[in-house]
Amino acid sequence: MTTTTIETKATRIAQAATRIRRSALLMGEVQGQGYIGQALGVADVLAVFYTRGDGELRLRPDDPHWDGRDRFLLSIGHYAIALYAALAEAGTIPPEELETYGADESRLPMSGMASYTPGMEISGGSLGHGLGVACGMGLGLRHRGNPARVFNLLSDGELDEGSTWEAAMACAHHGLSNVTAIVDVNGLQADGPTTGVLRTEPVTAKWEAFGWHAVRVDGNDVPALLAGLDEIRAHPDAPSVLICDTRIGHGVPFLETREKAHFMPVAEHEWDAARHALEGDRS
Ligand SMILES: [Mg+2]
Repeated sequence: MTTTTIETKATRIAQAATRIRRSALLMGEVQGQGYIGQALGVADVLAVFYTRGDGELRLRPDDPHWDGRDRFLLSIGHYAIALYAALAEAGTIPPEELETYGADESRLPMSGMASYTPGMEISGGSLGHGLGVACGMGLGLRHRGNPARVFNLLSDGELDEGSTWEAAMACAHHGLSNVTAIVDVNGLQADGPTTGVLRTEPVTAKWEAFGWHAVRVDGNDVPALLAGLDEIRAHPDAPSVLICDTRIGHGVPFLETREKAHFMPVAEHEWDAARHALEGDRS
């Protein structure tokens, strides 16, 4: 039996997720900081979209402005470290460029900015704007008869933003089945646990009430993510949302159990330990 037949699509994507985590740790170590907890948590979600040959997105890595591409909007600009790793996985940016993360003249600034980075569709960081942009892009693509799709990765903290729900209402009103929201539900936002800052549950029921087809999965389970996308494809009559329950620091046990912090502190000597822990978890 050949290697190809042994490796399923899910296995290949899970391997890509490990590489995304490894790359995120590398960038974190280069800068001595980064939103590493979120990057480790969302790596499986990004791998499902960006793994070369297996990912959900229709992309041309060597032509990031190709008009037929699926648009992936990162409204949470502080997740840039994770998206850079995914873009390297997709072949849009060279892996060796990751080491320039956050440096002067680098195309990879610490927060995601569209004018700097190939494959970065919007500048994020001021939360609550991604879905509105996705709505406009979805309308524009449909108007032009362009079959490309629009995905917006947003955080559970962004569900606090009224503009997110205005956009949700507009997408449903206009029947934008070419728009899919992906919500990273890690239970944490800048000011603390979402349960304490502003209760977001029941997340699924809220999106459904706004007219969206909602699917909720374990965001650290690649087969579950793939099944969720299959279900979304089977409902092409409305905008869809893939709600992903993820765990901060996933893949590095000593970071998973660290006191949860939006900007997780990692000591200088811990980056190497984190890399070893990641390999131990996945090998
Ligand atoms: Mg969060």
